[in-house]
Amino acid sequence: MKLSGGALSLPGWQATLGAVTDIKSITRAELEARLTEWGAPHYRGGQVLDWLYKRRATSWDTMTNLPKPLRARLAENFSHRVLDLVRKQGARDTTQKFLWRLADGALIESVLIPANPALYGEASDRHTLCVSTQVGCAYGCKFCASGLDGWKRNLGPEEIVEQVLAVERVLSSEFRVPDPTTDTQPKTQNSKPEARMVNNLVIMGMGEPLANYDNLLKALRLLNAPWGGGIGARKITISTSGLAPQIRKLAVEPEQFRLAVSLHGATDEVRDRIMPVNRKHPLAELTAALEAYQRRKDQLITFEYILIAGVNDGLDQTRPLAALATRLRAKVNLIPYNTVEGLEWSRPAEPVCEAFLAALENLGVTATLRREKGGDIDAACGQLRLKTEREMATQA
Ligand code: SAH
Ligand code: SF4
Repeated sequence: MKLSGGALSLPGWQATLGAVTDIKSITRAELEARLTEWGAPHYRGGQVLDWLYKRRATSWDTMTNLPKPLRARLAENFSHRVLDLVRKQGARDTTQKFLWRLADGALIESVLIPANPALYGEASDRHTLCVSTQVGCAYGCKFCASGLDGWKRNLGPEEIVEQVLAVERVLSSEFRVPDPTTDTQPKTQNSKPEARMVNNLVIMGMGEPLANYDNLLKALRLLNAPWGGGIGARKITISTSGLAPQIRKLAVEPEQFRLAVSLHGATDEVRDRIMPVNRKHPLAELTAALEAYQRRKDQLITFEYILIAGVNDGLDQTRPLAALATRLRAKVNLIPYNTVEGLEWSRPAEPVCEAFLAALENLGVTATLRREKGGDIDAACGQLRLKTEREMATQA
């Protein structure tokens, strides 16, 4: 992540120390209260938000319809950080992976999945974005690259929000076809509001979102607000490894965010082996929390189930899995394991995955088998970061 450029930016040390609130971590009401305190007209709040969320401005300097003294005052009081793109994998209109550097040098990832691969060279304009919520992860699931080097820190709300805006900046620059009749001069960046390109969010990147609960909720509210990201709550799915107490907390929030649970095992025996969190919150506790969630929401829960050869892909797992799915009216997403360098696990052969799917369906469960997008570009969470950090370490 780097500071916005230009004369009105905050000094780097201030932002790096995190002493200053970032402009993309506050609500409309908070911003308007500040502007009122400064004697600025009320409508200025809307203008600032428009620059941030609709025009995806990268600096105070571009906010040309705000008086210079107001821009200076905003810059003195708030940081305005944007993500620094380190590396991008994948092509336009296929799954793309973005590796970002934060102000303190830490690396995080976002993965973009187009809804429909574009035909005949046209750009697909509907996208799902998978965002990260922490640097690393403390939960250490045995199959996952994100937890391999442990947990470093939580992301701030603005670092979660900025993943959406930064990806859209890249998309917008890639999709823009110059019009020779009007584009004689290069246009000022962010000169006009653009439609939201990311229409679905999955909180399934690096980190355990419910372990960064307050910042996550703040970020999701900013992304959901009509004056902010404008992404519907039902288009936002939070994935958790099973933090039962936080699931109960989420159940009483007013928004209808969707919930996905990384189950990966339908018995405590299997789950204990691959997910240390299960020892803290075993299946009985997790299931009870999910039932509480369902009582409050009219939402279907999804179970994520990675199929790992010889670990959880036996047909004996299908009965307990079907029992849990039926009890919670959950849909099951089967995901063939993506090999992670340095980990011992492997993906089952295709017929094994198909047989697991068929067995679940025979037991009356709604299930899908992901014929994985992005497997070729290290798309499972944490893999690009891990690879890049290892490359940097060998170069050092
Ligand atoms: N911490 C949260 C969200 C991030 S992990 C959680 O555990 O739900 C989200 C998902 O990444 C996991 O459920 C799993 O579906 C996927 N994942 C992690 N490592 C993977 C791998 N090696 N292969 C395939 N999917 C993986
Ligand atoms: Fe953390 Fe989720 Fe990976 Fe487990 S699967 S280590 S909870 S990111």
